[in-house]
Amino acid sequence: MPDTASTAPNAWNDLPATERMPVLFVGHGSPMNAIEDNRWRQSWQSLGCDLLARPQPPRLILCISAHWLTPGWQLTAMDRPRTIHDFGGFPQALFDQQYPAPGSPEAARLIGQMVRQPGSGQPLVLDETDWGLDHGTWSILKPMFPAADIPVIQLSMDYSRPASKHFALGQQLAPLRERGVLIVGSGNTVHNLRTMRRDAADNQAYDWAIEFDRITAEHIAQQRLPSLCDFQQLGAVAQMAHPSWEHYLPLLYAAGAVHPDDQPRFFNEGFQGASISMRSVIWS
Ligand code: ZN
Repeated sequence: MPDTASTAPNAWNDLPATERMPVLFVGHGSPMNAIEDNRWRQSWQSLGCDLLARPQPPRLILCISAHWLTPGWQLTAMDRPRTIHDFGGFPQALFDQQYPAPGSPEAARLIGQMVRQPGSGQPLVLDETDWGLDHGTWSILKPMFPAADIPVIQLSMDYSRPASKHFALGQQLAPLRERGVLIVGSGNTVHNLRTMRRDAADNQAYDWAIEFDRITAEHIAQQRLPSLCDFQQLGAVAQMAHPSWEHYLPLLYAAGAVHPDDQPRFFNEGFQGASISMRSVIWS
């Protein structure tokens, strides 16, 4: 009798090696981008086609969304993560959206063992019942990978921890790129809902929004990635760009997972509502 149990990987590095996956930071903006035929969504669609056309497409997607904050760090570890409609005041068509991508409890277990929570040194906590895929994840993945056949895991963020700890956790994720894992940070480089002006064109934005977005882009273009952790030193500009910084933090996970040989390429430069930067980055 063959011993089928022995074929299950015991550690993440038992997984077959692949060419290094790119790492992404995607500005998700309004949940309506999931269903509106606009330039943001069109670029997600074409990026998904490019990633699927690679000799080795992604085997697993690990998404860090602005919309899942927990004490400590958690990973979704259910077979069938539910689609979460974590917003209000939008048309029924948006609430009707489902993204039935499978999860991967097995991969969550392996990643949970590999990564240590900065500070406590504890493994990541596996969430087998509670969360699922929130709109920070599915609103961008559905246009990119409409077949929903690549397993998706979400990693939460401990909002109480300083920026450097989020970057440090991202650094621990880097080896997963050599195992077919597509790491996606989903947030916005500028995000202030209180000052949104819905009539603004996508090349119009507040001065402080343009300034914060420009400084962030310069750090990325000049490979000064650890400097992204110092955003609060920008004072009033940072406070306007991020009255709370959960939409900025996913950038630090993606930046932490960047390899020294990677080159960044920006896409979706521009603003939604004058105070949300849609700037996105792919490092490869
Ligand atoms: Zn959001």
